[in-house]
Amino acid sequence: MFTLQALPFALNALEPHMSARTLEFHYGKHHQTYIDNLNKLVVDTDLAALSLEEIISASAGQSDKIAIFNNAAQAYNHDFFWASLRPSNPGMPVPAALMNLIERDFQSLENLVTEFKAAALAQFGSGWAWLVLEDGKLKIMKTANADTAFLHGATPLLALDVWEHSYYLDYQNRRGDFASAVLSNLLNWDFAAKNAGL
Ligand code: MN
Repeated sequence: MFTLQALPFALNALEPHMSARTLEFHYGKHHQTYIDNLNKLVVDTDLAALSLEEIISASAGQSDKIAIFNNAAQAYNHDFFWASLRPSNPGMPVPAALMNLIERDFQSLENLVTEFKAAALAQFGSGWAWLVLEDGKLKIMKTANADTAFLHGATPLLALDVWEHSYYLDYQNRRGDFASAVLSNLLNWDFAAKNAGL
């Protein structure tokens, strides 16, 4: 049985950029539902003993396992998203080793954020924008619906949820404003550096 992991911060810790009310629904309802659905789908099957990543890999592209894939990948993506966030702390620097890679591959942190936001806006419909490490280089990518970066040969460093449920309560239709607020204030660069092996 999969269970909803505790958030690494209080429900109101990301305000004003992401409200407690958004997290009550996004974490408490949407994320919980993916986990509940996944448990119902895999109970008494060979998949029940596997990790989320293993279930995602085993069900990806399988026409008879679409619901399992969608719920497992969304459960995983949301775990990754919450870990990608931390309360706003303007004094907290990007770890130096990661900043070196950012300046090598994007010239500046500002350029990285601009490209990250552009990917969030360019994802038509529901999906995810990612900072990844691929072939030794930092890159921005996007995936549709429940699709997830590691299935495409990339190591995910940070995720941004651009499904409407991620921002509609706080920003209504303004996905760009939501992306700017999160990308400029809430990213957990320590998590990104750890995922990059730095
Ligand atoms: Mn979501």
